[in-house]
Amino acid sequence: MKYISTRGNAPELSFTEAMLTGLARDGGLYVPKKIPTMTHDEIAGLAGLSYEEIAFRVMKPFIGDSFTDEEFQGIIGRAYAGFRHDARAPLVQLAPNHYLLELFHGPTLAFKDFAMQLIGQLFQFELARRKERVTIVGATSGDTGSAAIEAFRGLKNVDVFILFPNGRVSDIQRKQMTTPDDANVHALALEGDFDDCQARLKDMFNDFEFRDGVKLAGVNSINWARVLAQVVYFFSSAVSLGAPHRKVSFTVPTGNFGDIFAGYIAKKMGLPIEKLVIATNQNDILHRTMQTGAYTKQGVTPSISPSMDIQVSSNFERALFDAYDRDGAAVAQLMDELKEGSFTISQGAMEALREQFVSGRATEAETKDTIKSEFAASGEVLCPHSAVGVKVGHEYQSEVPMITLATAHPAKFPDAVEMAMGTRPALPAHMQDMMGQEERMCKVPNQLPLLQTIIKDRIASR
Ligand SMILES: *Cc1c(COP(=O)(O)O)cnc(C)c1O
Repeated sequence: MKYISTRGNAPELSFTEAMLTGLARDGGLYVPKKIPTMTHDEIAGLAGLSYEEIAFRVMKPFIGDSFTDEEFQGIIGRAYAGFRHDARAPLVQLAPNHYLLELFHGPTLAFKDFAMQLIGQLFQFELARRKERVTIVGATSGDTGSAAIEAFRGLKNVDVFILFPNGRVSDIQRKQMTTPDDANVHALALEGDFDDCQARLKDMFNDFEFRDGVKLAGVNSINWARVLAQVVYFFSSAVSLGAPHRKVSFTVPTGNFGDIFAGYIAKKMGLPIEKLVIATNQNDILHRTMQTGAYTKQGVTPSISPSMDIQVSSNFERALFDAYDRDGAAVAQLMDELKEGSFTISQGAMEALREQFVSGRATEAETKDTIKSEFAASGEVLCPHSAVGVKVGHEYQSEVPMITLATAHPAKFPDAVEMAMGTRPALPAHMQDMMGQEERMCKVPNQLPLLQTIIKDRIASR
């Protein structure tokens, strides 16, 4: 299995090479040269299996001969052993034909653990085999950072630097990043918003001297291995509701387009998905794009669902690549235009996108109303991101079962939940200790050379 860049101008890589590289050297994102498919019988055969066994069968065709079956099974087993629910990704019913996929039973209480715990195990295995070390730099709107730190803390051949927007993450998100005291963990509070963090990260990848000098690796959702890990729960949940004999639809609270793109891959692999619904908060660039065909940046307006406060949605590039019939030059041209603030998608590509995706948005008031009304209707306490999904999911309900992804535990966003429904969700016991612990972080300006110096100094002094 080979991986190619969405901008058509970078070397083809194997699975492990694409995983260790992150961003392609032409600025593009790696995607499989060909999407493997599963037959109706192979999908039917997933029914009743453990999450780990489903993960093995779904991901195996994508990894080629990078690992033996025993090695890959060991990696998957270790990745999900720390989850606090035997089903890993349980489904609960909200209403007739509307289900919630709870993706928050991992160590940091958000769905990012599914990908990050797996990536941590994959990196550890592969770096030990190659006798190499890497510097991981990640940008986060809150949940990626804590999930990455939890997955990589204490590992010998990895330093992990996390850039987060100073003052724009919740207290719990910040503490999850600043309280681990492992010497290889570095939390950097950047003066700016999430798009600034992501832009500086991309700058570092495009500075080849720095990139090669520190052996930079990326674990943001631009990393193909993360998308792949997320494909699994689309299969596990659909099969438990009767797929492939019965179709299902999914609604995905979306920011960087990683999670919903994983759903698209599941569909391409043969999972019978009727609708893939993009749900955005008031930062609705993706919803506007689906309606108008113009992808136009506006400023980010902070919301109560901060992990979706994004205007440059990195993984959308992967969807564009397919919508433009895998024409890397066309994608590179659009991304060039985006530097000026916007691009317009061709009519043909827009038709292709609309065949795969529909979209909706939730305002702040609608998000709060949904938290309140869903608790009254089903007793389920939603985090604000999941509430955006449930609001939009209801709008697209039909006779086909709708599965809405619950992307974080409500206790991760206690202020928003309390504001909406009057009671404060309790933090699970294993996380309560953290709140009193000492924080370590470094405030940094939004300036590339300074950031690079800080990173080089920190590595040198270890
Ligand atoms: C990251 C995140 C999202 C958005 O996911 P994308 O893959 O970036 O679209 C939604 N909700 C929560 C809680 C998140 O942490």
